[in-house]
Amino acid sequence: MAKNTGAIVQASLDALFNDSRFLPELQDETREKALRSLRSILSTPNQVHKSFLRVPLENGEVVRIPAFRVQHNNILGAYKGGIRFHESVNENEVVNLATLMTLKNALHDVPFGGAKGGVILSPRNYTVRELHIICKKYVQYFSGIIGPDKDIPAPDMGTSEREMDWMMGEYKSIHPGQSYLGSFTGKSIINGGSYGRRTATGKGVYYSFRYMFHDFLLANKTWLEKSGNMYAKNLLGNYEKPLTMAIQGFGNVGSIVALEAFSCSKINNKVIAVSDHNITLYHSEGLNIPKLMEYTKSNGGDLPKNKKEIDAAGLDATPLEREKLLTLDTDVLFLAALEDQIHQKNMQNINATVIVEGANAPITGLADDYLKDKGKIIIPDILANAGGVIVSYLEWLQGKDTQFYTEKEVNYRLYEKMKHTFEVVYPPYFSDPFSLRENCYIHAVMKLSTVLFKQGKLY
Ligand code: NAD
Repeated sequence: MAKNTGAIVQASLDALFNDSRFLPELQDETREKALRSLRSILSTPNQVHKSFLRVPLENGEVVRIPAFRVQHNNILGAYKGGIRFHESVNENEVVNLATLMTLKNALHDVPFGGAKGGVILSPRNYTVRELHIICKKYVQYFSGIIGPDKDIPAPDMGTSEREMDWMMGEYKSIHPGQSYLGSFTGKSIINGGSYGRRTATGKGVYYSFRYMFHDFLLANKTWLEKSGNMYAKNLLGNYEKPLTMAIQGFGNVGSIVALEAFSCSKINNKVIAVSDHNITLYHSEGLNIPKLMEYTKSNGGDLPKNKKEIDAAGLDATPLEREKLLTLDTDVLFLAALEDQIHQKNMQNINATVIVEGANAPITGLADDYLKDKGKIIIPDILANAGGVIVSYLEWLQGKDTQFYTEKEVNYRLYEKMKHTFEVVYPPYFSDPFSLRENCYIHAVMKLSTVLFKQGKLY
């Protein structure tokens, strides 16, 4: 099981309560009271909306499909979060993901609150026409609670720019004459989407690693050498060493991480393995990532599935079992596929010193504690995979102004925003006893708590 976001929030509040720098205005009883308020505000969503979408299928049957929109907190701005179409969606998961959005936005100074949507269905069991109806129904059922200044959905697992285009179209029909470009993000570019949105998460994931192993390390080498901290030792141990990398997942996020790594001139690295839902491809001297991306583009997103397909595509790689990627002898492991990939059964076999979470919650709570104690540097999801929501914010801004940035401008703003967060959370990670995940949560909770206090909400 993935680490419960609510539990980490509570642990962060405990740590902050005993820190004299945290809200020094609050002492004794008022401090205790404020802490109780914070615990209840942050551990419960403001609203949980549930509906059963009534959808006519092409075979004449009419079904009711459960759908959620959870609005966790909007103290920092309008609610914001993706809509997931997946058979495993459930209320608890949507609440957990909405909470994570509140914290992610707080951590990265994105002026949005946290929300999440979910529909319990497997998209591949529906026709395109049925999916279009489901999207329109979702907007109809939740039309009163979403909108450019209320709650702004985006794509998530099982949804893409196609669904966002449909949903924005429906929103526009329901609210004629009102502004609509900011009602959904992750739209196609012709429909008001942003350049650089599709690659934003993958780029951000790679930035989180590159910044630590290049910019931060170079600027702080002397200080890190003196710190005596176990993570600092592991970081320095990789200084100027040629780094090998393995990337789990070769979709939107994983393929962009692989391309960024392949073309990175700041760090001496090579991608020795990538995997997808079928296979791991391995080459000790490094894989040709642009050629693999060309291949997946014309093969339904899949990597070549066996030696015959690898040879036919003119690629140089050895096929290995899908799960083998996780335990390869590699320096860096990027997890960009699914949740719960490193768990009790395989955690002892992880060789990588650095693990970067591109997917949400790819390491179970138990494995996270185990790897942390072993000194592994884990760059957590809340920090690494925020590129999508950051560029969603830029898309929302561009829609409001009806002025659009170039791809170069978007990438520059994305990098600057993430760099700002790295500068806040990397130094304490290398000098205090908390993990990077804990540091990120503490920083996010501190921001939310301070704003709640200043707005007089801690009664
Ligand atoms: P995607 O569907 O484009 O790609 C997923 C990839 O993982 C595919 O290559 C698939 O074959 C592979 N995969 C599936 N099961 C696997 C397995 N057992 N082993 C190895 N590979 C497997 O999805 P994506 O958009 O790249 O998202 C990846 C993860 O990142 C998801 O967990 C998603 O929630 C998370 N995420 C995505 C974004 C975004 O902007 N796309 C933002 C934040 C978080």
